[in-house]
Amino acid sequence: MPSGLRDKFILMIIVQKYGGKSVATIDRIRDVAGQIIENHIEGVGLVVVVSAMADTTDELLRYAKLISSNPRERELDMLLTAGERISMALLSMAIWDSGHSAISFTGSQSGIITDDVHTRARIIEIRASRIISELQHGRIVIVAGFQGVSAKREITTLGRGGSDTTAVALACAIGADRCEIFSDVDGLYSADPKRCDDAVHIPEIDYETLFDLTFFGAKVVHPRAVELARKYNIPITLASSIHKEKRTMVKSKAMEGTNFVAISSQEEIFWVSTSADRKEIEEILNHLDKSRTNIRSPYLTDDGNLAHLSFWVLPEQADEVKKILDEGKYDYETQMASLVAVSGYGIAESSEAMTTIIKILNDGKIPFAHIGTTNRTIFVVVDKKYREKVESLFHRKLIVGRS
Ligand code: ASP
Ligand code: MG
Repeated sequence: MPSGLRDKFILMIIVQKYGGKSVATIDRIRDVAGQIIENHIEGVGLVVVVSAMADTTDELLRYAKLISSNPRERELDMLLTAGERISMALLSMAIWDSGHSAISFTGSQSGIITDDVHTRARIIEIRASRIISELQHGRIVIVAGFQGVSAKREITTLGRGGSDTTAVALACAIGADRCEIFSDVDGLYSADPKRCDDAVHIPEIDYETLFDLTFFGAKVVHPRAVELARKYNIPITLASSIHKEKRTMVKSKAMEGTNFVAISSQEEIFWVSTSADRKEIEEILNHLDKSRTNIRSPYLTDDGNLAHLSFWVLPEQADEVKKILDEGKYDYETQMASLVAVSGYGIAESSEAMTTIIKILNDGKIPFAHIGTTNRTIFVVVDKKYREKVESLFHRKLIVGRS
C-alpha cells in the first residue's frame, strides 16, 4: 500500500471490477453502489473498475458497422470507450446519492498509458498519482475499464473483455491487497453452469490452471488479466454481485498428482493449417505478429520436405488471417471448428491423462482434427456438431463421475 494511505485510516486497498451484467440496469447499479459503500464504511480503500452496461459495447459496434463497413480504428476506440464512461458516471452518481463521495475517471484520467495500437492496445505504464490522491481524500474512485491513452494522447482500447486487465493492472500499480472480479456467476465451476447442470463449484484454483481454462473458453475472467495477476502475484477473487454465498479464490499453489479439475470450450474457433517451406512459414508468422493477430496453440512439424504449421484464432480474427494468407498466396486450409479442453494438475507428466482422453474419444467414435497439450490442459479440436457430446463425456468421465 502506498505510504500515506494507512495514516488516513484505510485498512486495505481493494480493486473491484464489475462486469456488464452487474451494471446492466439502474437497479443493478444501485445494488453495486450499496455493496461498494458497505466495503467503504468498513475502512477499505476502493478503486472500482466498470464495464459498459450489458450489451452496450455490442450495440455501439453495430452502429459503427451500420455507418461504415470498415470503420477507422481510432474512431472505433472513441466510440467504444463511451460505453464504460456511461457506467462510471452513473455509478458515481449513485454513490453520491447515498451520501458518500466518489469520483469517476476515464482510463486517460486514471493515468493508464498504452501503446498506440488502436482496438488492441497494451498497457505500458500506469501513473496512478491522481487515483492515490483521491483515495487519500477518502473518495471511492471509479475507473472506466478497457481503455487508456497513448503517448500521442490518443484514446485507445485494450480489446474485448479488457476491463479485467484494467482492474488487475491497477491493482499492481497502486499496490492493492487484492483484486475482486464481480460478474453474474459466483466463481469458477467444473464446467459452464449455464450449459451443464451437474457442474460443481470450485472454491480455490491456481493461476496457471485458471489461465488455461479462460484461454480455452471459460468466461469468468479474461486470460490476460490472469496472466498479469500471476506475474505480479496479485490475489484475485471471482465472485457474483448478485448471488453472494460462494466465490473462487485464485492463488499460486497447485496440487500434486494427476487430477482433472474443470472443462472449458470454445463454440467456434478458426482452425488454420498451412504447408510451406520454412522460410515462408517464417514470413507468415512475421505477418501475423505484425498485425498483432493472437495465434493460439501454434504447432509446427517438418517432414524433411515441407513444414506444416497449424494454429487457431478466435472467429473475429478469421478475416485478417485469411487476408494475410491470401495476400502472400500461401497454401492453406481452414475450418470453423469447436474446441473442448480439460484442465488440471500433473497433465504434462502423465501418459495416463492422454490415454484416458483417447479412450473416451475412441469409445464415443468421435473424430477429431487435432489434440494438443499444455502444462495444465489437453484440448481437442472437433467438428462443431460434437462439441456438446465431448463436453459432457469429459465432464462425466473425468471430473464428476471419477470418484
Ligand atoms: N465493454 C468491453 C467489452 O464488452 C470491455 C469489457 O467489458 O471488459 O468487451
Ligand atoms: Mg467482460
